[in-house]
Amino acid sequence: MNNLIELFDDAQQWLFESLVQPLLFHTGLGGMIEDAYTGTMWLLIGILQIILLVVVFGTLQKLRPAEPVVDRRQIRIDIVYTLIHRLGIFKLVLFFSIQPLWNELFGQAHVLGFSPLHLDELWPGVTDIPWVSLVMYLLIFDFVEYVYHRAQHRYAWFWALHAVHHSQRQMTMWSDNRNHLLDSFIRDAVLVLVSQLIGVPPAQFVLIVVFTQLVESLSHANVRMHFGTWGDRLLVSPMFHRFHHSIEYDESTAGPAHGHNFSVLFPVWDVLFGTAKFNTGYLPTGVHDQQRQEGSRDYGQTFWAQQVLGIRRMFGRD
Ligand SMILES: [Zn+2]
Ligand SMILES: [Zn+2]
Repeated sequence: MNNLIELFDDAQQWLFESLVQPLLFHTGLGGMIEDAYTGTMWLLIGILQIILLVVVFGTLQKLRPAEPVVDRRQIRIDIVYTLIHRLGIFKLVLFFSIQPLWNELFGQAHVLGFSPLHLDELWPGVTDIPWVSLVMYLLIFDFVEYVYHRAQHRYAWFWALHAVHHSQRQMTMWSDNRNHLLDSFIRDAVLVLVSQLIGVPPAQFVLIVVFTQLVESLSHANVRMHFGTWGDRLLVSPMFHRFHHSIEYDESTAGPAHGHNFSVLFPVWDVLFGTAKFNTGYLPTGVHDQQRQEGSRDYGQTFWAQQVLGIRRMFGRD
């Protein structure tokens, strides 16, 4: 494990010195070295994740596809979404736009006496064991994600954005990041806020993000796979999440506000709130009003069309 961490550190340093640092000096941003070094870590994590996706999840998709691939163009759009999100282009925009605002806000809050909860100090000897606090933080973030996801389906304006994610009829391991950019932006802000409130240590935050993203990529993969009766109740599987995306269930429950299998990592939330459905099989995915040929709704055939339509529908136009 230590060797792996060393290897990662070396790679980060190399990537920084050979690519990021020259770029910084070239563009006159030499003062941002420290932030850029952290940014390089995220870039490297993104590159490693994409390699893992292609090699491992890609092989699974080839070996046991849930459905045949008929629309490669739509998959290519999802690859664009994934590269934007995982290689840091989206984060970079956030960094220059919203980060200064956040820093200012939390800086002010600290001045006024606010301090994070530090949940790991809750029960000395237990909650400060690294893996215990990691599980605790994972559960808190995952619960926030569950509530956020319920809201995306509950409110019409929020659904207008989230429909971009659901409009993929050729769901694959690339579909996790297919989200409206405004939606990604709100979600990121909520997660940063939560991590500030509960005081997650940076190293654990990195682990949480990496683990969550990998489970999300797998749960969207076009693969006939579940984790068994108990496993499916412990961790969100491709079968479990595919049902959330299924066209049929939207149809049968009359609209996107209702539904099943909202959990991102742990199905326990769906079980607790009565929204879980197991052993569903592998149904076609999409939005219910997209299904019919006549009068079907367009959710955008290109990246920009999806973004523009999302905003228009958010304001009730269309
Ligand atoms: Zn959803
Ligand atoms: Zn999804």
